[in-house]
Order: sequence, then structure tokens, then C-alpha cells
Amino acid sequence: MANSPEDLAALLAGARHAVVLTGAGVSTESGIPDFRSPGGIWERVDPMEIGSISTFLSNPDRFWGFHRPRFAAVDSVEPNAAHLAIAELERRGIVKALITQNIDGLHRRAGSTDPIEVHGTLDFGECLRCGARISRDEMLARADDADDGVPRCTQCGFQIKSGVVLFGEQLPADSISRAFAAADAADVMLVVGSSLLVTPVSTLPDMVLGHGGTLAILTESETPYDADCTVRLHGKAGVQMSEVIAALDEIADRPG
Ligand code: NAD
Repeated sequence: MANSPEDLAALLAGARHAVVLTGAGVSTESGIPDFRSPGGIWERVDPMEIGSISTFLSNPDRFWGFHRPRFAAVDSVEPNAAHLAIAELERRGIVKALITQNIDGLHRRAGSTDPIEVHGTLDFGECLRCGARISRDEMLARADDADDGVPRCTQCGFQIKSGVVLFGEQLPADSISRAFAAADAADVMLVVGSSLLVTPVSTLPDMVLGHGGTLAILTESETPYDADCTVRLHGKAGVQMSEVIAALDEIADRPG
């Protein structure tokens, strides 16, 4: 199995329709912890509990007390070299689609134009009772003004939820169908910073392999697909992806 940034660059240079799939590990070098690495969020809280629709519904002040500071934490960090390299691959016409499980918005800030955000986004708030939608700024202002820290709908009084998909909720149908369409069209799928343990995203590599496509994975931990990869990189995503861009530059500069 190939395992160098140069191998990955060669695979991408020959791709007709490369698709990138990212997870929380692409953002750890920006300072946002992932779920499963040592020091990750799972060591401190149970995301299945604090990030669940049932906690949001039954204990909204606990829910918002945990999540409100995370908005500021995301705003205070910057895209890292891995986000920038993935955006550069799109600018060069190599990457045709980006699927992300992340809700931090860093791919957009790095220049990726239309990431498929399968787990939603922090960018808006919505009322689950009456369907009213408000901007992120309005949602946070209402949280900060409320005695219990819970933003509420001005139309019906119910608590507002951000656009992030919570445990126990359905994924947004349009995003998930776009993700499946992207995987269906991919001749190469590059996975960066995902343990590939969370469904249904974890099934996308199967789809690529099933129609004869090629898989490349860059994550620090093991994944269930390691034996199926054509290229397998370990190590830091920012460092490795910068080297991939440098290797692509070298390929482009080669005579002939
Ligand atoms: P995960 O925590 O299950 O896996 C992260 C993977 O990235 C692991 O394989 C880890 O070894 C690897 N990794 C960590 N830092 C890395 C680095 N610098 N370079 C290369 N690899 C690195 O995350 P997941 O697969 O995305 O699934 C869990 C859920 O986490 C998703 O639903 C996602 O929505 C959510 N999440 C998102 C954020 C975010 O938006 N930044 C943060 C935490 C969790």
C-alpha cells in the first residue's frame, strides 16, 4: 500500500472526479478537539447526552449552558493548512465535491465554495415548534439576553435550536442525498480526519469501492477501511496535506 504525500498527489493528479470527505480531525490543528482522540470531547462529557435532541427538549438550559461557549470557541479559531489545502485542490479543479461531518464552518472560511455539511451548521437558528428561522447572531443575542441562557422563538415561545443535527435527529435530506451523489460520481475519495465510525457517512467509502473507485485515507487513528485503501497516510493532516500540494506543484512543473 502506498503511504507518502507524493503517492497521494499522484493519485489526485490522475483523478477524473475526486471527492474529499472530512471529519473532526481536520480541525484539531485549529484547536477544536475531536470526539475520539486522547483529550477529545468524549473524555469530558458524553456527546450522546449533551448533544442529543432529548436533552435539548427536556433540559434546554443545560443544553444551552454547554453549547453557548462553543460558538465563541469556534469563532476564535482559524482554518489550518489542511482546510487551505483542500480548498486549493478545489481551485485547481482536482476536487469536485467536499463532504464534511464538521459543523465549525472552517472549510468555508478556508475558501471551499460549497461544502456538503451533512451534520448541519451553526449558521442559523430554528424553532422546532413553528418553523421560524433566525440568523445565528440573533439566536446568540437572545441566548445572552435570557435569564436562563435559552434563546426563544418570538412567535411561539419555544426554545431555539441551531442548525446542527443533534443525536436522535434525522440528517438533512438534501445534504445526505448530495453526499451519496458525490460518492457515486467519485473515482477517488480522500478521507481526512475521520474515524469513519459514524453512520451514514461511514458507508460512503463502501459506495466508492463498490463501483470500482479508489480510496485514500489520512487520519491518525485506525479506520475500518484501512485494508481497502490505495493510499494510507498517518500523521497530522495540515502537515501531510501541505506536502501533497507541494508534490502536485512538482508534478505540474515536470516537463512533458
Ligand atoms: P472522530 O473524533 O470520530 O475521529 C477523528 C479522526 O481524526 C480520528 O481518526 C483521529 O485519529 C483523527 N485526527 C485527529 N486529529 C488529527 C490530525 N491533526 N490529523 C489527522 N488526523 C487527525 O470524528 P468524526 O469521524 O468526524 O466523527 C465524529 C463526529 O464528530 C462527527 O459527527 C462530527 O460532526 C463531530 N465533531 C465535529 C467537530 C467539528 O466540527 N470540528 C468537532 C468534534 C466533533
